[in-house]
Amino acid sequence: MTLSEKDSQYLWHPYTQHKTSQTPIVISRGEGALLWDENNKVYIDAIASWWVNPFGHSNKFIADSIYKQLTTLEHVLFGGFTHEPAIKVAEKLMEILPKNQEKIFFSDNGSTAVEVAIKVALQYFFNKNEKRTTIIAFENAFHGDTFAAMAASGISFYTQAFQGMFIDVVRIPVPVKGKEQISFDALKNAIQNHNCAGFIFEPLVQGAAGMVMYEPEALAKLIRICKENQVLTIADEVMTGFGKTGKTFAMDYVSEEADMICLSKALTGGTIPMAITTFTKDIFDAFFDDDINKALFHGHTFTANPTGCAAALASIDLLQTSEMQQNIKRINASHLDFQKKIENHSKVITARTLGVIFAVEIKSNSEESYYGSMRTKLYNFFIQNGVILRPVGNIVYILPPYIITDEQLQKVYKTIEEAIEMV
Ligand SMILES: *Cc1c(COP(=O)(O)O)cnc(C)c1O
Repeated sequence: MTLSEKDSQYLWHPYTQHKTSQTPIVISRGEGALLWDENNKVYIDAIASWWVNPFGHSNKFIADSIYKQLTTLEHVLFGGFTHEPAIKVAEKLMEILPKNQEKIFFSDNGSTAVEVAIKVALQYFFNKNEKRTTIIAFENAFHGDTFAAMAASGISFYTQAFQGMFIDVVRIPVPVKGKEQISFDALKNAIQNHNCAGFIFEPLVQGAAGMVMYEPEALAKLIRICKENQVLTIADEVMTGFGKTGKTFAMDYVSEEADMICLSKALTGGTIPMAITTFTKDIFDAFFDDDINKALFHGHTFTANPTGCAAALASIDLLQTSEMQQNIKRINASHLDFQKKIENHSKVITARTLGVIFAVEIKSNSEESYYGSMRTKLYNFFIQNGVILRPVGNIVYILPPYIITDEQLQKVYKTIEEAIEMV
């Protein structure tokens, strides 16, 4: 049997309707921004393998750090024990996170980072004997696939089978240009009419919604409204963190600080699943008590895995090199040039750029659904041309590894231009 045949015999893939989808491509190796399949066809990974890989595939510096850690201490339970790699990650994050963040909690992926944040928001008020049980979230948000994260997510594809089984969530419009006041008013309404514990948001860019962007001033205003009403704020930086927006965190653009921040994806440079939720001292203090019932009874077996910590430390080191910072600026400038070039194309509705993130919305005759026919056509065209891009409906976005070369980037742009002509 071929690998593909064995795959279809045994494996169940994410976000996949196995009856109608094509067989997955077998990838056998990766280097830099490139991936090779089993037939040695090469692909440019223009979405950094779901936004996790800023420094390139099979990065030697991160691999060496992981190997060294694996042969020193691969894992130890984090209940009752601690270790230097975890402490170093915490110290490092304290240097780069917004100043109000003082405590970090480890978990395994973006969804669990969000799950922890939402549980903490709810228990914070439980510990203070206040009845606040509703979470506020944006329309079309994506916060992950576990239950609380899914409850906060607004994309129906992911959540429709589970409606009616969720924690209480009220949804408000995203303050995109021209809709700011509607969003502010909706937030005030939500707070007035529900017992709101927390507001969770993807700062400045809603990734899974199709790289929907909004301004820092609007987010600052929403956070201020929450603060005036003691509603905790949760910045889900799982996608935006570690340089994607041009600054280390999207929250670095925003004049107000969030109470909690969720991190994952690029945290380990796309090598080892790991996530972190960070907190203010005020939040930690609401759990700090003689009463054991006020503790946070949440944990995962692999909490603070030392190997993951080693990967995170190496990744943050790489992010901070001037070379990587230059790469981010270079990609941003290049995106802006490309945006200028195509935004007035007759088949383009709009194009937008922030940091290394670029998105273009293509005109279509019908309402394009998330996994609709235009999406399939575009996706197949990109794959045929050796470029990995996963359009969201009629929106094509690029989120490349920071080490992508100019030549590779130009090939991605050219392929997108051809695709726009084709559809
Ligand atoms: C990907 C993502 C998540 C979920 O992360 P997983 O590791 O897939 O569980 C949560 N929030 C945002 C903003 C994301 O982009």
